[in-house]
Amino acid sequence: IVQIDHVSKSFRLGEQTVLALDDVSLEIEPGVFLAIAGPSGSGKSTLLNIIGCIDTPSSGRVVVDGHDVSNRTPDELADLRARTIGFIFQTFNLLPVLSAAENVEYPLLQMPELTKAERAERVRHYLGVVGLKKYAEHRPNQLSGGQRQRVAIARALATHSKIVLADEPTANLDSKTGTSILKLMRDINRQSGTTFVFSTHDRKVMNMADRLVRIADGQITALGLRVEDRWVFVDGRTPRDEDIREI
Ligand code: ATP
Ligand code: MG
Repeated sequence: IVQIDHVSKSFRLGEQTVLALDDVSLEIEPGVFLAIAGPSGSGKSTLLNIIGCIDTPSSGRVVVDGHDVSNRTPDELADLRARTIGFIFQTFNLLPVLSAAENVEYPLLQMPELTKAERAERVRHYLGVVGLKKYAEHRPNQLSGGQRQRVAIARALATHSKIVLADEPTANLDSKTGTSILKLMRDINRQSGTTFVFSTHDRKVMNMADRLVRIADGQITALGLRVEDRWVFVDGRTPRDEDIREI
């Protein structure tokens, strides 16, 4: 569902140039539950932002859901993003003055094809999916961290995103709440087939994925495939189910 070919990204900081991604190639298959793991500063957020069309590569090609996004106008990118990609952030990024229901509805206001009744139905449905039906009228400051992240998940799903990207979704949650958020994401992935890509530097969270991209210093160092309780590493290409037979 995502193809990344020889993508590099550099940032200019005064006299210095930081190479955040260094010739990264990766194919993400539809329906996977994929973790991007690596130390702080390794390029995880940069990679997610490029997949999510929030940022553009310095060189290389990115294809998202069949669309080459390397040379699009900002308007075209925003449209593709709104219809294809949901984002979940470490800091939840909810609008503080809106209720949980209004936060979930917010991106739907950009979809003129939906009627008011259809929007309300989607909000009701996705708040139910994340177990927050009773909290529809609560504002973010009236919710716990885990509940806020559930609202963010409902918001990411409500637009019927094919891909949900989550940048360290558990970093601001205690370990137990973080695990329950990851389990919820995984259940949704299993049930709906929505592709999930999330970054983490928490080993326990990483181990809940079924595909793994390890990065260090802007380069992919390993691709892993989860087989029962361990990882099988595949060099130089995206692991596929067939690889299980090679053990
Ligand atoms: P963390 O685990 O701390 O979130 P990360 O793996 O997400 O780290 P990135 O945020 O992708 O790392 O950063 C990769 C590198 O690019 C770092 O060296 C960082 O300082 C640099 N970088 C990222 N964004 C910018 C920017 N907007 N301007 C300059 N340098 C940047
Ligand atoms: Mg980051």
